[in-house]
Amino acid sequence: MADIESTLNPIFTKIDELKPQFIERLRKAVAIPSVSSDESLRPEVFRMADFLVDELKALNADDITVKQLGKQPPPVADANLQLPPIVLAKFGSDPSKKTVLIYGHYDVQPALLEDGWASDPFALVERDNKLFGRGSTDDKGPVMGWLNSIQAHRELNIDLPVNLVCCFEGMEESGSLGLDELIAQEAQNYFQNVSSVCISDNYWLGTKKPVLTYGLRGCNYYQLTVKGPGADLHSGIFGGVIHEPMTDLIKVMSQLVDVDGTIKIPHVLDLVAPVTEKEEALYKDIDFDVNELNLASGSDTAIYKDKRDILMHRWRFPSLSLHGIEGAFYGAGAKTVIPAQVIGKFSIRTVPDMDSDILNKLVIDYCNERFKELGSPNTFTAELIHPGAYWVSDPFNNEFTAAKLATKTVWGIEPDLTREGGSIPVTLTFEQQLKSNVLLLPMGKGDDGAHSINEKVDVPNYIEGTKTLSAYLHYYSITK
Ligand SMILES: [Zn+2]
Repeated sequence: MADIESTLNPIFTKIDELKPQFIERLRKAVAIPSVSSDESLRPEVFRMADFLVDELKALNADDITVKQLGKQPPPVADANLQLPPIVLAKFGSDPSKKTVLIYGHYDVQPALLEDGWASDPFALVERDNKLFGRGSTDDKGPVMGWLNSIQAHRELNIDLPVNLVCCFEGMEESGSLGLDELIAQEAQNYFQNVSSVCISDNYWLGTKKPVLTYGLRGCNYYQLTVKGPGADLHSGIFGGVIHEPMTDLIKVMSQLVDVDGTIKIPHVLDLVAPVTEKEEALYKDIDFDVNELNLASGSDTAIYKDKRDILMHRWRFPSLSLHGIEGAFYGAGAKTVIPAQVIGKFSIRTVPDMDSDILNKLVIDYCNERFKELGSPNTFTAELIHPGAYWVSDPFNNEFTAAKLATKTVWGIEPDLTREGGSIPVTLTFEQQLKSNVLLLPMGKGDDGAHSINEKVDVPNYIEGTKTLSAYLHYYSITK
């Protein structure tokens, strides 16, 4: 360990010295409006891929490969719209070293000054020791962080302690089209020797303590279709004399979840892994309270007031949310329509050890039974639209142990071990396809405003974050 610290000290000094160049690198990246969801900006997404290739060349990467993914499948306005490429590169191929795959994305969410930004979203601005601009934290900051780390090593003539494989995609904000297929194709090729994956594309839970993330919930999405009359009808003529699809649907949907969030479908909670003492202990020191939840939701509507309850219900228990009803009247005013067909949408956020097939059967059987009880002549279909698996890792494995040491060395504090309530589907794809552990090592803070207006990354997070990524590689390289 003492060895590693003496290696890291000059690297940290170098990173501090290069800070103006690193901010300049992020400024250039943010200046390219690589919005993947806006077809008219697709050339900019390609320009961003070119920018990365140039940066990788300047850093002397090996085997830079730009994987073209072909046409974007419908729905698209331009039938010839090309998907942005996945940029691959390697640094080193020493068989005596471990190989770490680093993943990031170079596309961003849309942003317009008129949305309420204090300054042009695509011109990086420094205010109060924060760097404002679209992509500053999601995910151009972390991607530049990796390039910064490589540059610092190069300028000091220090070899990277591991072989690095870079995988940078340009469609993350638009469903990562083509990525799963590419990972499967390259698992035994470009990604062959990968021993571990590091993703820096999420955030600290709050603003004070760094975190490492070891779990994500999945999401199974369902729909319930009730069909009745041949066409929409007038309630003045048909109200009271026919079975109405909307009434049936509301009856069924009202029996899915209680107002306190309790899932009413029997046996769903039986599928959930019990809380262990070791896990329970992880919640004690986490920097979070109910006020942060209220601030984030913009209301005082929390079900739980206690930190542990809030976090457990966000991270390690399932939840069921009702999302909407397709075909229902939803405009202003007082239309007296009886909709002929309505489709109710809801999803369940899933957690270990819920088996997706067992869950689907419980949900669909339950909905069918509730409908049957109504004795309605309308037709009813309950179905899964798409499943999405949860992910959980062992926060005591080599990757997490190395990342804890790296965080402690840079920030002087033990990181909180957190999970997230949402999903990052690529995490599971990497774990399964490459049969390697995945570490989520975030750079930015919980208040960075990814996807929102005035997105920012704090200068210390960008610079100390670059140090943390560097230190991680060194600590990981010596794990057994
Ligand atoms: Zn992101």
